[in-house]
Amino acid sequence: MAVPEIRTPLPGPKAAALIARDAAVISPSYTRGYPLVVGQARGCAVEDVDGNVFLDCAAGIAVNATGHSHPDVVRAIVDQAAKFQHMSGTDFYYEPQIRLGEALAAVAPMPGGVKSFFGNSGSEAVEASIKLARYATGRSHLIAFLGGFHGRTLGSLSLTASKTVQRRGFGPLLPGVSHVPFANCYRCPVNATPDACGAECLDVLEHETLVHLVSPDEVAAVVVEPIQGEGGYLVAPNQFLARLRDITSQHGILLVVDEVQSGMGRTGQMFAIQHSGVEPDIVAIAKGVASGMPLGVSLARAELMSWPPGAHASTFGGNPIACAAALETIRLLREQLMANAERVGARLMAGLVALADKHAVIGDVRGRGLMIGVELVRDRQTKARAIEERNAVVNAAFRRGLLILGAGKNTVRFCPPLVLTEDEADTAVRIFDEALGDVAGH
Ligand code: PMP
Repeated sequence: MAVPEIRTPLPGPKAAALIARDAAVISPSYTRGYPLVVGQARGCAVEDVDGNVFLDCAAGIAVNATGHSHPDVVRAIVDQAAKFQHMSGTDFYYEPQIRLGEALAAVAPMPGGVKSFFGNSGSEAVEASIKLARYATGRSHLIAFLGGFHGRTLGSLSLTASKTVQRRGFGPLLPGVSHVPFANCYRCPVNATPDACGAECLDVLEHETLVHLVSPDEVAAVVVEPIQGEGGYLVAPNQFLARLRDITSQHGILLVVDEVQSGMGRTGQMFAIQHSGVEPDIVAIAKGVASGMPLGVSLARAELMSWPPGAHASTFGGNPIACAAALETIRLLREQLMANAERVGARLMAGLVALADKHAVIGDVRGRGLMIGVELVRDRQTKARAIEERNAVVNAAFRRGLLILGAGKNTVRFCPPLVLTEDEADTAVRIFDEALGDVAGH
């Protein structure tokens, strides 16, 4: 199968008919950027219902870590489905859930014992982390970052500060949540060089929020994405994460890292926080953990998991089929795919950086491993955001057979399955180059 191969106008006739049916019965709150109707997918190749084949650099929003329908993951799912499909790990025991707890403990980014709470989504992983932090500290206040995305359930939404449309009309949200500025090195307000960076962006948290607004001894947790995902693939420098750990430790505030998007091998380490050496207290995990089966995890230092039976649970959380898929996913990540993400990520990054010589609209290329953002600007001096151009480039890439997504206002994200090959990375760069050319009118 040639990847990509576009055979019909887009959307093709079958896709167009399905999209019309969708409009009649599916919630209009979903954000479909372009008209892709999937028929089947394998590895990094996605075939739509009209037989058009796309190269996937979106991975179902950074989810399909092992590629679409990896045979080992499929086998694990089928085997478990044939044994039993559900029992509720909250009320009964079963080995796949226990084994997954052990596997996660073996890869946790903090030393000592850890324990897992299982839910079904990123939002639930964050929700559980919020509840655990409050319970364990006996404090209620939470601090998160502007631009951050943590989910859409009302608790996690209270931390989300990504787009106003996500919050508008749903308030009042949780009281006792403060938002502070995140690191944005491309737009650094003090123009720090990477070596001279003192994470000045955290001055607001340390010297204003914790001084004028809330007493540190009332703060349960600071929740942070080591790389802001929906916010535009903004990589927090190590100094930022280290300073955040210092501030939180000083006041007995828990550090919760939301690794829903940046975790599970995507950056070349199991968790993005590991690039910094900072040890968190709680990690929220979802997306890539089970190759697309619904699973969310709140992974915490064992001593924090002091809540009693009944304090928190979920009927479906830790579903045995999802656990089986996660066990296979973690094995593949450790044996091959984390290393692949680092190696192929470096190649994709180099290819995208090289495109900046040709396309003035590229302002910044950043990321780690196979989590790469390309920020588009109208002018490299003013850094005016190229918002319409970004949307047009994502669409032009789709028409040429490359699936990519926007992130933030004016950034394109590349978050392919971690099985991406070097050839596929080169193809992605070539099509992205052409798509940029389409939009610049070359
Ligand atoms: N946290 C982060 C960092 C995310 O990127 C997302 C999803 N984009 C979530 C939480 C919420 O995950 P879900 O959509 O599975 O609830």
